[in-house]
Amino acid sequence: MPGRHTSPSNARVMRIVDVRERSVPISRYNDPSLPSGALTTSIVALTTDVVRAGKPVVGYGFSSVGRYAQGGLIRERFAPRLLAAAGTDLANDAGTNLDPFRAWSVMLKGEKPGGHGERCVAVGTLDMAIWDAAAKIAGVPLYRFIADVAGGGRTPDATIAAYAGGGYPYPSDDLARLCDEVRAMLAQGFTHVKIKIGAGPLERDVERIEAVQALLAAPNHLAADAMNAYDAERCLAAAKALRNHHLWWFEDICDPLDFETQAAAVDVYHGAIAAGEALFSAAEAKLLDRYGGLRPAKDILLFDPVHTYGLPGYLRIIQTMEDGGWPRSAFWPHGGHLFCVHVVSALGLGGCEVNPFSFAPFGGLADGMMPQDGRIAPPQAPGIGFETKTDLHALFALLAREEVVR
Ligand code: MG
Repeated sequence: MPGRHTSPSNARVMRIVDVRERSVPISRYNDPSLPSGALTTSIVALTTDVVRAGKPVVGYGFSSVGRYAQGGLIRERFAPRLLAAAGTDLANDAGTNLDPFRAWSVMLKGEKPGGHGERCVAVGTLDMAIWDAAAKIAGVPLYRFIADVAGGGRTPDATIAAYAGGGYPYPSDDLARLCDEVRAMLAQGFTHVKIKIGAGPLERDVERIEAVQALLAAPNHLAADAMNAYDAERCLAAAKALRNHHLWWFEDICDPLDFETQAAAVDVYHGAIAAGEALFSAAEAKLLDRYGGLRPAKDILLFDPVHTYGLPGYLRIIQTMEDGGWPRSAFWPHGGHLFCVHVVSALGLGGCEVNPFSFAPFGGLADGMMPQDGRIAPPQAPGIGFETKTDLHALFALLAREEVVR
């Protein structure tokens, strides 16, 4: 991480001048009439005093999906620290652009180690906007900016592997609607799919898996995500019931910190296990590696680059797991959005989740961006490219224009 720096005393140093946050509802379903647990996410607009094309550069971010909005933490702790910081604490040596690593240190000033709670999500939300703004100021797509400042000299991947996530249980006509959803994923060009299990009886989970596998080119094009719902007994029963189904991977198979159960399930399951989605720090990642029973040559790491205190925290997790012998190809980050697409390309990770029909307008790809044989190319617009996803950009642009009542 870069050390503290000084900038030329007569040079103007750029600043963050405004941060806005709003909570917005999101749904696991394409059909808005289906209940989805009142899920929300935070959107943020972070305005700098750097001007491009006659307008101040604004970075956009959101809280990924699955952990609700973070407005209180963002408004009370983390945004005020960014706004109060001296430009020299946020900017690169030339004072011309944000240094996302320095901005990250500003956000975490005074925070004690451990006890991650949900502050890791709040920090990650703002961090996404900081990277978006920095890449826009640099005038490059985010994957290229990340590769330059955190990629260790590697060339970003022009295309990355991507799969379609979704397949949440439907309250009625579940199997028929699930199969319709998967057919629509395949029609979009995806070859690999992930569905949810764990919400009902195990026999129901097996039915869902077999119904979808019948639609795919091979059984191992399907991953199944139990959403951390199984207790120890059900986890082991599921591992035994599913071990001959040749899944691509079996995900979130028990409580994220129940390493004892997970390791026992690995022993009886044999196939690939995916874990790490609900772990948020390098210290937790180290525990997963030491005690979770996982095998670096076979298993999958799901850490979310937003939920892990943003990209600087995610990079620490990658380092921790590489120190434990894990290859970068094991990382398939959770989230299903454009930020992850850039991260995977820049860092050479295994691949990316996309949520074509869930979490609109945050899931899905940019306008005109279609998978080709299960691979996608990152947007080429400066920054993350939210501007190239019409429905999502409309939401962010509205926030950036809103009158703020303080
Ligand atoms: Mg999961």
